[in-house]
Amino acid sequence: MSTPKARGELLEALRLSRGLTQAQVAAATGVSQAALSKLESGHADADDDRWDQLADYLGVPATAFFDVVGSAAPARIFHRKRKTTSQTAVRKVAAELSLVRLRVEDLLGARRTTLNRHDLEGGFSTPQEVAQLVRSELGLGTEPIENLVGLLEGAGAVVLRWPLEAIQVDAVASWQDDTVPVVLVGEHVPPDRQRFTVAHELGHAVMHDGDASESQEREADAFAGEFLLPAERLGTEWPPSPSLEDLLPLKRRWGVSLPALIRRAYDADILSDDEYRKWNIFLSTTGMHRREPQPTERENPAALAAVIRDALAAGSTVDQLASRAYMYPREFEFTFLQETT
Ligand SMILES: [Zn+2]
Repeated sequence: MSTPKARGELLEALRLSRGLTQAQVAAATGVSQAALSKLESGHADADDDRWDQLADYLGVPATAFFDVVGSAAPARIFHRKRKTTSQTAVRKVAAELSLVRLRVEDLLGARRTTLNRHDLEGGFSTPQEVAQLVRSELGLGTEPIENLVGLLEGAGAVVLRWPLEAIQVDAVASWQDDTVPVVLVGEHVPPDRQRFTVAHELGHAVMHDGDASESQEREADAFAGEFLLPAERLGTEWPPSPSLEDLLPLKRRWGVSLPALIRRAYDADILSDDEYRKWNIFLSTTGMHRREPQPTERENPAALAAVIRDALAAGSTVDQLASRAYMYPREFEFTFLQETT
C-alpha cells in the first residue's frame, strides 16, 4: 500500500514528465494549486476519486497512485549547464529519468550493479586513474571495449535511447543511493559520438554527485578518453609516422572517431603540438572531422527489452507489466520495447 509521500512524488514526477506546471494541472482538474502542492509534497492526501481524476488527466492507470511504493523523487542528473537550455526541459528529463528508475525497479525487482563509486578523494586520484580502476573492476584490462552499452548493461546499469535534443545534451545519467545507474542516450547522437558520450556519463556517475561544474566536465572527458582507449596501450599500438590508412584499423578496433583518436594520441604525449595541428588541418580540409570514413556502428541498448520479452514469453501480458510500471500498455511499449535501428 502506498504512502502519501510516494503518491506525491509520483504525482510530481508524472506532472513534470508531461511538461506541465502545477497551475496547468490545477486548471484542468479543478484541484487548487495550493492543494496540489501539498499533495506533491506528501503533506496532504486526497480521496480516491481525486486520485482517479489526477491519474486520468496525467495519462496513467487509476491504480498507479494506490500501488506505488518506491520513490520517484527527482533524479540528480549530470548535465552541462547551458544558458539557452530551459529549466522546464531539464526538470522534465530529470523526472523522466526518475520514473524510468522507479519503473524498472518495480518491473524487475531491486537490481544490483557491479559498478563501484570512486570519488576523486580531494584530488588524490586522477580521472585517468579512476578509469583504469573501473576497467580492472570490469575485467577489461587494457583491451578494447567491443560494445560499451552492452558492457554497462551487463554490469547492471539501465540504458535507454531517449529524446534529449531539447536540453542540448548528448546523454544524461543518474546514480542515487542504493539504486542502479540509469543512462539516457540522446536519439540524435551519431554512433561515433555515442560511445564517448556514454563513457563520459559513466565517469560522472562513478566520480561525481549531482550537477556538473566545468571542472567536472573536464574530469568526465578525461575519464572517458582513458576508459575507451588507455594511453599506455595506445603508446604501444601507435604506428611510427602513420598515414590515414594506418590509423583506420586502430580507430575501428577501439571504436573511436578519427578526431577522438588524434586527440587521444595528443593527450597521451604521442603526438607533438605540430603533428597534432597537422592532423587536424588534414581532417578539416578533407571533411573527415564531419564525415568519418568507416563509421562506428551504433550500439543499441538491448538488455531491458530482452528481460521484458522473456517475461512476456513466460506468460505475463503487456497489460500486467505496464500496470506494474504505472503506465498504459501503449506508452509502456513505446518506452521499453522500442525497436531500435
Ligand atoms: Zn558531463
